Amino acid sequence: MHPYIEKVFDITCKRNHTEPLFLQAVQEVLESLTPVVEEHPELEELNVLERICEPERQVIFRIVWQDDQGHIQVNRGFRTAFNGALGPYKGGLRFHPTVNNGMIKFLAFEQIFKNSLTGLQIGGGKGGADFSPRGRSDSEVMRFCQAFMTELCRYIGDRRDVPAGDIGVGAREIGYLFGQYKRITNRYELGVLTGKSTEWGGSLARKEATGYGCVYFAQEMLKTSGEAFDGKTCVVSGSGNVALYAMQKLEQLGAKVVACSDSDGYIYHEKGIDFELVRQIKEVDRQRIRTYLETHKDAKYKAGCSVWEVPCQMAFPCATQNEITEDTARVLIDNGCRLVCEGANMPTTPEGVHIFQEAGVLYGPGKAANAGGVAVSALEMQQNANWSAWTFDEVDQRLHKIMEKIHSTCLSHSQKYGRDQDYVMGANIAGFLRVAQAMVAHGVV
Ligand code: NDP
Repeated sequence: MHPYIEKVFDITCKRNHTEPLFLQAVQEVLESLTPVVEEHPELEELNVLERICEPERQVIFRIVWQDDQGHIQVNRGFRTAFNGALGPYKGGLRFHPTVNNGMIKFLAFEQIFKNSLTGLQIGGGKGGADFSPRGRSDSEVMRFCQAFMTELCRYIGDRRDVPAGDIGVGAREIGYLFGQYKRITNRYELGVLTGKSTEWGGSLARKEATGYGCVYFAQEMLKTSGEAFDGKTCVVSGSGNVALYAMQKLEQLGAKVVACSDSDGYIYHEKGIDFELVRQIKEVDRQRIRTYLETHKDAKYKAGCSVWEVPCQMAFPCATQNEITEDTARVLIDNGCRLVCEGANMPTTPEGVHIFQEAGVLYGPGKAANAGGVAVSALEMQQNANWSAWTFDEVDQRLHKIMEKIHSTCLSHSQKYGRDQDYVMGANIAGFLRVAQAMVAHGVV
């Protein structure tokens, strides 16, 4: 590590010592930047690294709401506006009981570089609450979203900070959040939230964008060795928004998805997962993945186990952070896995990433491979700004081009610094340079 990078990491550790996920994300980016810091001494002169590791603004707020039994519930809400050099802060909201400030900061930090890689004008941010929508009625979710937005509305706006969905936040929640924002501000400000329903201002193909984009990225990685998806066995973790549409696109492109999961366990279906059924169970009925077996008696369900024990040629982690550890990475490789492409944010631990890279596995890090979601969110903002709506094909084609471009940018940056196909390094350097240039241009602010 360059001494300047070491110094900044040391300061960041001292300032954020209670936030291991955030420090993990920072370390991964900083470790890639030595050649860039050597090439650009102005980064140290202007102390760009220390500035980029410190959020511009963080808010933490209380959310008080009433459940169906009339009990008063209290949750904690967060929004981190991490870096606005490239545009309004942009990043999703996560509703999950494990959410804390460090988790939101890690996600917001990743978002800076991911958003930069899209080539669009969006800064990095993230938010959420330690609320679990699981097992809550529709009216409870609505009351929670209203209470959450009553506070959040002070900090967001279509030119200021534009939240979207993430774990636990889909079109239903975005609808309730928008309704409350509109009620409080008395403004029909469509571009204040993305991931809206297509009936009232959402973009076609937004729901599909992260999963599809991840598969487009994998397709580009495969092309570098003249390969395609034909018949390859895939495992996808999760069965939420990202996982579902990664599965659909994999199927469309000729791969065979044999397993997927939720937080209780996984299903294995040797014939190939029935995508429409999983979509019905998870997206429409909001049920558990094990109910798949009620329709497909020849499938298997394993409770409490990792889906990564299922042999596959390609793995698509699309659930949550640090789900692939060093040991899991070894199991995947021993079972013949040759490609890992991340739909989730930071789903592989640093040790796991190292194992993949040492073994020559094609490894696409989330900050590049899952950027399709935020890219189409930015396209949603463009459509909202013009009060227009593009066709599904138009959005999908733009998404495809953006993913091809992100892939080639990561690849060329890895090659420039002598680490061909090190997509981690390529994504970190390319994402960083665009933000750093904007920060330098904006002066000392
Ligand atoms: P969803 O809430 O739609 O789905 C999450 C899925 O992962 C569910 O199947 C859930 O299971 C499972 N899951 C969640 N937490 C855990 C856990 N701790 N252990 C095991 N399984 C878990 O979220 P998304 O699909 O939107 O997000 C998935 C990942 O993709 C996240 O890392 C997110 O940050 C990332 N991402 C999402 C984008 C988007 O556009 N939505 C954009 C870019 C990245 P269960 O049903 O049991 O809760």
